[in-house]
Formats: sequence, C-alpha cells, structure tokens
Amino acid sequence: MWSAGLGLFEGLAIENGRVISTGSQALKLKGEVIDLNGGFLMPGFIDGHAHPIFAGREARGPRVNNLQSVAEIKSEVARYAKENPNESWIIGGAYEAAIISGGDFDAHWLDEVVSDRPVVLHAVDHHTIWVNSKALEIAGINSNSKDPDGGTIARRADGSPKGTLREPIAFDLILKHAPADNVESDLRAIKYACDELVSAGVTTATECWVEPPMAEAYIAAAKSGTLTIEMHLAFLVTPQNWQEQVAYIQEMRAEISKLPKPNRLKANTIKFLTDGALSSGTAAILDPYLDNPNSTGLLIWDDENLLAALSAYDLLKFQVHVHAIGDGAIKQSLNIIEAMTKTNPSWDRRPVIVHAQLIEPTDLSRFKQLDVIANFQPLWTYLDPMNKELIEPRIGSERNNRQYQLRTLLDLETKISFGSDWPVTSHKPLDAIFIPVLRKVPESKSQPWNVNEAITLEESLTAYTANAAYQLFSESEIGKLESGMRANFVILNKSPFESNEVKIKSVWIDGLEIKVN
Ligand SMILES: [Zn+2]
Repeated sequence: MWSAGLGLFEGLAIENGRVISTGSQALKLKGEVIDLNGGFLMPGFIDGHAHPIFAGREARGPRVNNLQSVAEIKSEVARYAKENPNESWIIGGAYEAAIISGGDFDAHWLDEVVSDRPVVLHAVDHHTIWVNSKALEIAGINSNSKDPDGGTIARRADGSPKGTLREPIAFDLILKHAPADNVESDLRAIKYACDELVSAGVTTATECWVEPPMAEAYIAAAKSGTLTIEMHLAFLVTPQNWQEQVAYIQEMRAEISKLPKPNRLKANTIKFLTDGALSSGTAAILDPYLDNPNSTGLLIWDDENLLAALSAYDLLKFQVHVHAIGDGAIKQSLNIIEAMTKTNPSWDRRPVIVHAQLIEPTDLSRFKQLDVIANFQPLWTYLDPMNKELIEPRIGSERNNRQYQLRTLLDLETKISFGSDWPVTSHKPLDAIFIPVLRKVPESKSQPWNVNEAITLEESLTAYTANAAYQLFSESEIGKLESGMRANFVILNKSPFESNEVKIKSVWIDGLEIKVN
C-alpha cells in the first residue's frame, strides 16, 4: 500500500538503487541522511498512456499550444516559417479546436501566412488536423475527393475541402507526402520527452502508438543512454495491417528483451484504436449524434476482425491496450475481450481500455467482471472547453455529464490507472491529480462537474502510481515504496493533502537523484 507515503514516512533507507527499509527502522541504519525539510516523499509517477515521441516531434514545429485565437496561431506559424526557411513542410501542434464553433478550421486562414509550403497542424484531440491549401494540393484533395473509409474531410458549402481532416486514415492522405520521421529525428524526440517527463516527476511511462521507426529509435536510445526513464511500448495495429505486423512486432520484442541490463525498455503491449473522439463526432456511440442524426460515429474495426486480431496477439502473450471512447466502442471492446477470454487459454492478461469516457450503464460492472483495467486521463475529468463547446452540442447534456464515471467504477472494484495522453494534454501529474478529486481545476471558480463521480486524492495518486505499475506488470518493482522495490520516487515541496500548490523538488530513479530543470 503506497499510503505509507502519505507524508507519514519517518524514514526511507535505500541501498544499491532499492528500498531496503521504511519507517522508524530506516532511521536506525547507518549512512548518509537527507532531511526532507517538510517535503513530501512519494513513489515516482507512472504514466500509463502517453505518446512521448509525438510530443517530441510536435515540439520541433510551431508552438501553437494554448493559443486562444486563430490570429495568434497564424502569427506563430508565420514566425516559425520565417525562422525556418529551409523546412520543406511545416508540421506542428497542438491547437485548441474549441476556439472555433464546430472545430472546422479553414485552409485559407493558414494560406494568408504560408502559401508556398505545406502546413499541417494537429489539434489537441489528435484526431484532427488543419492544413493549408498547399498541403491539400500536394495530396490531390479537391471537391471530387471522397472521404476515406474511417476518416472525414470537412467541406465548404460548395463541396470543396475546407482544410480540416479527421482521423489518422485521412491525415495519411496528406502526411504520406511529408518527409518521413527517421531514427535520428526520433532519437531527438525521445531525448526531449525524457527530459520533460523526468522534470514532471514521471519515472516510468508508456509509448502507446508505436509504428516504425519508433521502436528502432527506442532501441537506439536504450543503447546510447538517451533513454533515462523506463518506457513501455505499445505497438499500433490496424484492421488492415495487424496480420502482416505480427512478425515485425515479435522481432522487435525479442530484440528489446535482449538489451543489456538494466534494461529500461519493455515491449509487451498492442494498441488497438476502436473509435475516434467525441469532440470530432467520430467516437462510436450507441445513439446518434444530435448535430448529425444519421451518424453514430466511426467504429474502426468490425467485430470479427477485432476478435481475430485480439486473440492472435493474446495467444502470443501480448497485453491488449484498446482505445475506446464512445459507449458503442466500449461495448464492442468489452464484448470482444469477453469472447477472446472464452476461447484463448487463461493467463494474467490485464487488458486495458483507455479513455472509457462514455459507458453504457449496463457495461459499468463488466470492467471488473472481465478484469479490464480502465485507464483514464485525470486532466480531462472536468467541464473543460472541449467538453462544453465541442462535445455537449454533439451528444447533449445528459450523455456529456455522464462522462468519466470514476467513482462508480471504483465502487464496483474496477482497477483504475491514469495516463496523461501527452501531448494531447499536459504530461505533468501535478497539473492533473486534483481534478478528478474536485471535478474542476483547483483554482477556478466554476462549479464542479458531476461531483458524484469525484474520487479521493489517495485514489487519484494510487491510479498514477501503484495501479499504473500493475497495468505495466511491474507492481513488484515500482509504484510503491516498500522494502525490495526500486528506489524510484519524487519529493514534493509540501504535502498534496495539505495544499494543491505543490511542486516537484527532486526526482530519484534507482536511488539516484536526476537533475531536473
Ligand atoms: Zn492516446
């Protein structure tokens, strides 16, 4: 139980990178003593769902995060274009789509600042891109282009493409023409991401969308020492490629398992994307969208193919990590996991459904019944602009307010773990841990959002430490500070149980203090 760390630690003794003793016993041992001076010691945060390389790739382009108007975004893109005249494509993110009602951004707005080179900006939901006319032209997207299967192209009234595209299959129409990411550029992204994560107190994380050459870049990072935190990879497979990917993924897993000790890299998980996002009207829901009564969103996999894919990887002892947001996608995922467990031999498989935003009431108890871990993004559990401006108009207030039933799931004894989904939202756990407790941003004056679903701070911290360690099959090594565990911990300036204005003072991995900025 990590609650030994509720500021109640009298002492913690470490030796050779491991905890050897806790409590008053630890104080009796000989050795160098560090006084916390009122600081709060707790296990290092474990991010159970993140995209560090995407964050690193995005950080290279224009910095449009948190900008609150189209004019500000345009001037940042203009600045970047001017300072980087040799960059053939300008790619960046992530812009706040909720600043425009409906979220359809126009290519012409970007054309006013860059028209000679393609520009592609990712929206914060990472299910949407906004591009300029040059990018549409290079991809050959015009009034005659049809929406790809599983994606959409927003249109103007005359049918011409507006400049906003949704879902990866649609982005691909454009991004396949851009220079490919390579091991070298991804190594820089990994270095950036590790520095950012450590500074935030994250000592173990996940890379939940691995496609070539990302695993190769991680192997290079592990060998060169660039990988400073433990990283668990989840390979993305699609309805089209899951069969041909089996050999490659197994090869990568084997190569990673052979890396010299201590090996910070693990690769035992497969990521499945079963729907899109509510904010873009692409999450698969059981009842139609209010703004588009002909649509129940996008169900990316058909049942038969999803069952075949899950079963095949499960037989190879890969954990499944399923993105499901709408109640339709969550029901499908639970059904398929149930069907798979009935036919495949039983083992400690720990399936994960990530996001789990809108759950049909009769499905709530199935998480525990099927031993499915629900991985939530704590920073999303308040009425933020996305929920208010983009989601509520599409699904109505009843369904909108029913999102993120953390209390109900915990009361049903569901295992809940946390992840940031960085760069979709902040990777900093201290920005997030109070939100599911208060169901609002601590300093804001707004009303809590469906306060019946609030959880305790201890539950919130446990989801970001011990339960995330369980999700990663690492509960005997990390996530708690007990004798024998790795000495991965953070020291906060004060107890989060006394104040929500806490800061990271220092971060320790395997008993060594890591310099943070
Ligand atoms: Zn994600």
